[in-house]
Amino acid sequence: MADLPATVGAALAAARGRIPASEARLFLREILGVTAARIAAYPEDALTPEQAERFADLLACRAAGEPVAYLLGVREFYGRDFQVSPAVLIPRPETELIVDLVRERVPAGAALAILDLGTGSGALAVTLALELPSATVTAVDFSSAALAVARANAEALGARVRFVESDWFAALAVGERFEVIVSNPPYVADGDPHLAEGDVRFEPASALASGPAGLDDIVRIVAAAPAFLTPGGWLLLEHGYDQAAAVRELLLAGGFAEVASARDLAGIERITLGRRP
Ligand code: GLN
Repeated sequence: MADLPATVGAALAAARGRIPASEARLFLREILGVTAARIAAYPEDALTPEQAERFADLLACRAAGEPVAYLLGVREFYGRDFQVSPAVLIPRPETELIVDLVRERVPAGAALAILDLGTGSGALAVTLALELPSATVTAVDFSSAALAVARANAEALGARVRFVESDWFAALAVGERFEVIVSNPPYVADGDPHLAEGDVRFEPASALASGPAGLDDIVRIVAAAPAFLTPGGWLLLEHGYDQAAAVRELLLAGGFAEVASARDLAGIERITLGRRP
């Protein structure tokens, strides 16, 4: 390719107007293995032809819309770095609320069983396993490609998680019980314009869309969950910004008690939970 940037300053100039400067600096930090302060203070630092080519590639892909998390292969969740690929949803900060809600309900040293449905990158399962070391965590996903990513994260972060390839509860043994079931299922309505915008365009559709109202998978999970919960066990579900009332209704209709919704940092009712009586 012609005109590869020979210095940090030239690379930043090439990115101007195409991607945010913060992202260009992030790419340079990753490529050069240096701090943000070094990037800012030494625009004259040289790039090797290989580094310049890698920068040009990242710039072109990002300018075409590819998510930064997929380009760098990593996204932080609950203070830890998770590997991500286009086989998995990119972990979102609002999903961290599920971890906080579980920790509020469960004693840290309790030897209990936790199930994560549709684990994707494994962000929830691995985090829960590390935050609640006495718990036994099972994570399912129907995508073997996602499970490979989740397994790699569990190994890299030193978490013990049992992974099962399963369409929600289908591959779990009848009679298996959990004190806590969590899920960040797909919940966007099919055809929602949001699916055609930004990072979401590059994420697996199976992790995002779920029927005409976005509730198909949540309906399935709520219907099947009681048979896999211990009495007093909790079900916690992430859902869309406008679905809290509908999910509370589903849980109440399904016989759950202590049904409530919790707001994320943006003030949106994002997680709804209930308890098997
Ligand atoms: N919160 C995601 C989004 O709106 C959707 C994630 C999901 O469906 N679980 O992009």
